[in-house]
Amino acid sequence: MHKWANPNRIRNKIPVSNAGIFYRFRPEFVVSMKIFDVAVVGLGAVGSAALYHLAKQKELSVIGIDRFDPPHCFGSSHGETRITRLAVGEGKDYVNLALRSQKIWKGLESISGVELFHPVGGILMDSGIQPWAKHGGAGFFEKTVSYAQEMNIPHQIYSSEKLRERYPQFLLEKEGKAYFEPSAGYLFPEEIIRVQLSLANEFGAKLKVNAPVSSIEMTEDVVKLHLKEEKVFARRVLLAAGGWVKEFLPQSERPKFKICRQVLHWVRLEEGNTAYKESPVFMWGFGPNPEDFIYGFPSLDGESIKLSSESFVETESAEQINRSVTKEEQEKFWKERVEGRIGGLKPEFVKSEVCFYTVTEDSRFVMGKLPEMEQVTYVSACSGHGFKHSAALGELLADQLKEPFG
Ligand SMILES: Cc1cc2nc3c(=O)[nH]c(=O)nc-3n(C[C@H](O)[C@H](O)[C@H](O)COP(=O)(O)OP(=O)(O)OC[C@H]3O[C@@H](n4cnc5c(N)ncnc54)[C@H](O)[C@@H]3O)c2cc1C
Repeated sequence: MHKWANPNRIRNKIPVSNAGIFYRFRPEFVVSMKIFDVAVVGLGAVGSAALYHLAKQKELSVIGIDRFDPPHCFGSSHGETRITRLAVGEGKDYVNLALRSQKIWKGLESISGVELFHPVGGILMDSGIQPWAKHGGAGFFEKTVSYAQEMNIPHQIYSSEKLRERYPQFLLEKEGKAYFEPSAGYLFPEEIIRVQLSLANEFGAKLKVNAPVSSIEMTEDVVKLHLKEEKVFARRVLLAAGGWVKEFLPQSERPKFKICRQVLHWVRLEEGNTAYKESPVFMWGFGPNPEDFIYGFPSLDGESIKLSSESFVETESAEQINRSVTKEEQEKFWKERVEGRIGGLKPEFVKSEVCFYTVTEDSRFVMGKLPEMEQVTYVSACSGHGFKHSAALGELLADQLKEPFG
């Protein structure tokens, strides 16, 4: 294991911060407290990226805080792999974020020696029978193709016949069509978070894990973060708390964020099946409902592939999510999504894991300032498509946050 990939390095080597010292005079004693330039609350996909880019500045004193010990399996950034693709049907304005993120991760791979991005290509399939929408937008397939054309992203369009010739495991209807993007592939989310945090730490960021921030307060022009047993002070705060971000927002804003449980399944390959070795990642919209959808990955272990769909059933909060998966759920997934579509598999589940989306009304990310707290920026890469953009989003936020100190 490479040095960056060792989580103990993060915990064992917490450098003394070079944060400023602030003296406050009280009648009975003098209290000294460190004031960080920037505190990042939440060290998942976006927070760990932002922390890395902030720490890289070197002249800034930064601290990253998380309620768990990232990478962990309680937020939205776990489960072995995430799809990345460039012509993203979610919106043309996201294309450059995806492109930049791939570049950042390729750079981090060469610094760390850890594989973060595996470009196996990606296929988007459309059954061609009924129109389907995804991530809030109708015409997802058509948008993907038109963004690829406009932004010169290499791609090919396959008829159903051509697709089945090349990838016989996808049993696409004969009316169907497919978009193939060679630069798509999959990311290793846990490794990415680990590397970003390790590097941030190497650059001098202080890390505080298993430390939930319970509230945020302004004291003069300094932000005070209340942790279980202590307070942390910072001039600027980035609240990158994923699905928990809504807890810091006023009641009136909270209904805009839906927490939706998602299940990932690892389904066993038929004996001797090699079709999924280094095969492209894939997404397939096959009906008019947002849940008429399946996506998957090549086989990483030679024995199973990871498959999932999407669910938009709301749960009140991340804490209330049911983390166990029943046999009935697995059987339903097989019957309704896999059978007759994805070939070369047995109806046998190696394992299933639970994760969650934070879904917004328009499926876009959210970013803003907390009311009456100009110094606190909040962000959430919402609606199930944020990982592929998180490195560039972190860089962008770091640029904004360093602005007053530059
Ligand atoms: C099943 C599934 C599949 C997905 N597939 C894809 C895909 O293929 N491609 C893609 O691009 N995107 C995908 N996504 C979306 C993507 O993974 C998310 O958009 C992204 O991971 C969200 O990152 P985040 O940093 O906003 O949240 P998180 O990674 O959840 O990070 C939030 C962090 O904040 C911490 N935190 C929360 N509250 C506090 C507090 N009070 N104090 C301190 N710390 C706190 C949490 O512990 C957590 O570590 C998928 C999501 C899921 C769930």
